Amino acid sequence: MGIVREFAAKAIDARLALREGEHGITRRAMERQLAMVAWARSGSPFYRRLYRGLPADITTLQDVPPVTKPALMAEFDDWVTDGAVLRDDLRTWLADPATIGQMFRGKYLAYTTSGTTGEPAVLLEDEASLAAAYASRVRMVPGFLSGELIREYLRRRGAVATLLATGGPYGGIAMVEWAWRINPALRGMRVYSVNDPLPDLVAALNAQQPVVLAGYTSALELLADEAVAGRLRITPLAVGTLAEGYSPHGKALLERAWGVPIVDTYACSEMPVMAIGCVHGRLHHQVDWVTLEPVDHAYRPVPDGEASYTVLVTNHFNRVQPIVRYDLGDSITVDPAPCPCGSPLPVIRVEGRSRDLLLLRDAGGAMVRILPLAISSVAEEAAGVHRVQLVQTGPSAVLIRLEAERGADHALVGADIERRLGGYLTRIGLGNVRLQVSPDPPVLSGSGKFRGVYREIGAVEMATV
Ligand SMILES: [Zn+2]
Repeated sequence: MGIVREFAAKAIDARLALREGEHGITRRAMERQLAMVAWARSGSPFYRRLYRGLPADITTLQDVPPVTKPALMAEFDDWVTDGAVLRDDLRTWLADPATIGQMFRGKYLAYTTSGTTGEPAVLLEDEASLAAAYASRVRMVPGFLSGELIREYLRRRGAVATLLATGGPYGGIAMVEWAWRINPALRGMRVYSVNDPLPDLVAALNAQQPVVLAGYTSALELLADEAVAGRLRITPLAVGTLAEGYSPHGKALLERAWGVPIVDTYACSEMPVMAIGCVHGRLHHQVDWVTLEPVDHAYRPVPDGEASYTVLVTNHFNRVQPIVRYDLGDSITVDPAPCPCGSPLPVIRVEGRSRDLLLLRDAGGAMVRILPLAISSVAEEAAGVHRVQLVQTGPSAVLIRLEAERGADHALVGADIERRLGGYLTRIGLGNVRLQVSPDPPVLSGSGKFRGVYREIGAVEMATV
């Protein structure tokens, strides 16, 4: 099936499922997750081995064991269901910037995770999965797509601004490049790098006048400050946040800056859309496309209303690289109360996604803002790092906590991270910032969630006085 027909079929089914209500949605979820288990077992040597010893007829998803990113990445060539896809070929192919947004072997969109999650993963998506990700947008239509937005979208020639991590074959930019190629009408969409200097970004946005503004929450918060200060003069009719969720004051800041609805999306590289925000500011789990199982540290189910330790994700559509009960690491809470918007899709809250902006003071006393994505990606380039946590502990002080990969030396990895961060900070005028490598591993939040970049309570206040 071509991508356009695939998209149309998914979009129609998405609306139909909503009309059928909870029963229709649950039925689809059950059928699809079991079909994916059967597919993974027959098509992926990795899953075949993992499920060896299980009954031939698996009747519930919970009968199969969870999987982790390191286990899947270690057996990449056996994980994928297309024997012609080999990791080394894929890595070579991805190393060429010209391939971003192209289909690997004409069939799969390929990308790597950006430096936000610790260990970069190589991911592939087939057309069915891509179509589902785009079709998910039809569910946003009733709340957000006003006549005014459509008129302005046409008048401003489809001007949409997206702030993403660029400079590598990352998921967000790969999907945009792919969308540009299959639909030239989307050419009005522009991508800006979250690492661009702020004045350049402000000037470019003032020139573009986007009708929709989307991007990492921390990057949008920087722009909101510019809008409140009167330097950024744009009038978007919708603002979409990606990947990071809201920091406690983030949503209010964005609303104050532009006075329009803020649409949140819960997504990750392994699963482009897991939950979509509604006009009431809640996230609705897209149950029929992805299964999310909130579980505790021993992978036991966690009841509604309680924050999970992690979440197991099952992608119902992506057949080339099956994701079945994949330990994502996020803490989610299922809210049993119905949402005033009337959607039959359950409401979830996601914790620990928010990463803080760092507010560091330079030698002259001026405050410099650092995007969490920018600084964490520098640290994660160090050799032998499994995951790293950067904590602002004072006006000009950052603590580095890390876990080294198995076999790597903690002190050597720490020294490499310190050297890279020192170089980066010096280049942006923050050579005065004191870096310290902690002998302790990263600290998890109360709900067990890993946060890559944050400010210690008090560090901001010290920095702002
Ligand atoms: Zn709702």
